Amino acid sequence: MSVLQVKDKLFEPYLTAEEINGQVQRLAAEINRDYEGKKPLFIAILNGSFMFASDLFKAIHIDAEICFIKLASYKGTKSTGQVITAIGLDTDIHDRHVIIVEDIVDTGKTLHEFLPQLHHQQPASLELAVLLHKPDATRFPVPLKYLGFSIPDKFVLGYGLDYDGLGRNIPEIYQLKENH
Ligand code: 5GP
Ligand code: MG
Ligand code: MG
Repeated sequence: MSVLQVKDKLFEPYLTAEEINGQVQRLAAEINRDYEGKKPLFIAILNGSFMFASDLFKAIHIDAEICFIKLASYKGTKSTGQVITAIGLDTDIHDRHVIIVEDIVDTGKTLHEFLPQLHHQQPASLELAVLLHKPDATRFPVPLKYLGFSIPDKFVLGYGLDYDGLGRNIPEIYQLKENH
């Protein structure tokens, strides 16, 4: 892996596919253990989490369901601060053990706004499985039960995460190279 240009920005390698997979397998093992016999419902938040959700779900060996919603709050490399529900939830979560699957928690605003809507429907339990967390950027703390990596407050790309629509197909995670 070497420096990568996407549109006007340069990115440098940050997490390899092997490092990502190691954490995904660890999280899946914990979920397999914690949810045995509970038939959890995974709710993956599109677009960014599609690759994480796919790899995580393939490593779930207990009975489980998955569905998808689409929330959006980003434009370019900065949060717009507005959370839009582009595709809503079509599954009844009442009395279900729900696991939200999200690519990254940055400010925390997306989940902070969305979680109360889910709690309102009275799931049996509600936990988060998040691949990346930027603790220094988080202004709305959310309880991260299953977390892959804590990372610095720098924009990242790849493994489902985009810069202006591009880079989601990259199997590794790259970090924005500042001051070039
Ligand atoms: P938050 O609401 O926590 O500020 O951010 C939520 C969403 O913004 C994430 O689900 C993700 O889609 C997007 N996001 C936050 N940080 C990054 C980043 O470093 N890179 C990319 N590509 N998207 C990000
Ligand atoms: Mg996301
Ligand atoms: Mg995005």
